Amino acid sequence: TNTISDPQNLKVKLVLLGDSGVGKSCIVLRFVRGQFDATSKVTVGASFLSQTIALQDSTTIKFEIWDTAGQERYAALAPLYYRGAAVAVVVYDITNPESFSKAQYWVKELQKHGSPDIILALVGNKADLHENRSVPVQDAVEYAEKNGMFFIETSAKTADNINQLFECHYSLHYNVRC
Ligand code: GDP
Ligand code: MG
Repeated sequence: TNTISDPQNLKVKLVLLGDSGVGKSCIVLRFVRGQFDATSKVTVGASFLSQTIALQDSTTIKFEIWDTAGQERYAALAPLYYRGAAVAVVVYDITNPESFSKAQYWVKELQKHGSPDIILALVGNKADLHENRSVPVQDAVEYAEKNGMFFIETSAKTADNINQLFECHYSLHYNVRC
């Protein structure tokens, strides 16, 4: 992959995929800037941000993040972003079952056309809206296990599990503590 040249300073190309409105851009803004903007703008095409984190063993990871638009009319562009990506984060909204179906569509596409060693993460966002939950945790856990994916529920609004999303699955992969 494009990951390891200097094992102490890793560079990771990461792409976010998923239905429009599930919170992909808010997850990235929360991770990179520590902010949540309830009036965030719809992503056009795709946008790029980077963020470097330090793990406990002083390894640093520079994430080069491609945040894609979820709309149908941009779907044909997705391969431009996920090809060569080390990590693909597929996001759905826990209050929206259609977005969970759409996430499964993206997983299939990545399994077919992504690089064979791509790390896949399934993310149920908007966990703060648990009173309106319509995707049971167990369904997502089972789906993720069956497909060899890392799974986590997040809230870009409250920041719950946002750092863990970026830190843990990568740390697990490299067998370092997070
Ligand atoms: P994207 O199309 O996947 O990039 O979605 P956005 O990041 O633009 O977010 C879509 C809408 O969902 C916005 O109105 C956000 O304020 C809202 N949103 C995003 N993340 C969360 C979250 O974790 N909790 C709640 N309650 N709303 C969120
Ligand atoms: Mg967006």
